[in-house]
Amino acid sequence: MMRHVALALTLGMLAAIGCAGENTLEPCDVRRSDCQQQVFLAVADARGSSWDPWFPLPTMRVVTEEQYCAELLAQAPSGPATPGGPNQPDDLTSALKLLHLLDPNETREEGACHNAVFAAAYYVPARQLVTVIDRGGETDQCGDVRTLAHELVHAAQDRDLHFKTLNRGVDSFDEQQVVDALLEGEGVLYETLIDAKLREQGRCGATPPIDLAQVLGATRDNVVDLTRFPSPFRTATALLGYPLGARYLGYGYEAAGSLGVRRAFEPRPEGDVRLMNEQHSEYDRPLPAWSCATLNAPEGYRASVFASFGGFVAYAFATLVLTPEPAAWDNALASAGDDFVVYSNAAHEVLVEWSLHFRSEQRAEELGRALAESPLGASIEHSLQGDVLQVRASSQPHAFGDRAWASCSE
Ligand SMILES: [Zn+2]
Repeated sequence: MMRHVALALTLGMLAAIGCAGENTLEPCDVRRSDCQQQVFLAVADARGSSWDPWFPLPTMRVVTEEQYCAELLAQAPSGPATPGGPNQPDDLTSALKLLHLLDPNETREEGACHNAVFAAAYYVPARQLVTVIDRGGETDQCGDVRTLAHELVHAAQDRDLHFKTLNRGVDSFDEQQVVDALLEGEGVLYETLIDAKLREQGRCGATPPIDLAQVLGATRDNVVDLTRFPSPFRTATALLGYPLGARYLGYGYEAAGSLGVRRAFEPRPEGDVRLMNEQHSEYDRPLPAWSCATLNAPEGYRASVFASFGGFVAYAFATLVLTPEPAAWDNALASAGDDFVVYSNAAHEVLVEWSLHFRSEQRAEELGRALAESPLGASIEHSLQGDVLQVRASSQPHAFGDRAWASCSE
């Protein structure tokens, strides 16, 4: 009761100076500035920062899906231009296509605009700009408020934590995925809380009170089934971080509210396979360091891409050959690091070698066997060394000749 009184006083003071207080959020037209202000205050309230009078509303704009796609295309990587023709794919894109992690027939436009198909809005830290994508048709104010709340969480994160600081020390694709998953997870967490509040007030359909723990307990059921998509690399890296990041931060929220969420950012999980596992799982066991010997580039080629992709991409690859889909998930849970190298020559021909390390020899063997039995086994070679599965592919038949496999050890 004492807590109630203290809270009421605080809220009264906030109302007097025009701050958030008990927010009175209602479904509204997110293109209007009064609606944007309302959602903005609801986000500040949910994140426990409505006391801050210097928290500025970011700039907002609305674009069509075509405009968004054109912007993505302008930023998309491209390889060298061919005389009188379009740009070639960059080496990474070519290599991912060889492994079927990207649809080999995907055009540069389709690749660039992949995110435009899924995104409802986005935030650009460099410009502190929230952009909502207007797809025309009927508007759903409840859904739009939720989307805007998510983007305003990103604006608040940028102000509180600075994206540049969060990205400091990130030196692999895997680590970048973890940072992104935490950022997206917080967006999902608070948009879900705000949506739950609207529903409980009966403003967004007569849904019974939402069980937050259940929503954020997004285990297998909320993870998108990548087997439905022809470019599982894009889908995994664009979408898995949302439910998995939200679940991870949900544990912090359950323990200590918005402060618990903030604490869960530091130290951050070591790799994205960690986000794929429930907390306190057997997978927390530290592993001995492992590495594969660095091979010389094949003659006429130079190494152009080095990466360590992590669990999300290991899962994307497993979905190509292991069925049904939960088998791919289980396989990727045992992922324990990877080395991905692309070599290219003057004619922009590409070779790719990828070493996947697992927590058990059985998991490495399982994936190797499934690859050999699948149609991809004809174009993707593999070699098993204990708990390491190495795969390689080339755009040129016989390019590997009698090239040895790297020797890997712990
Ligand atoms: Zn987001």
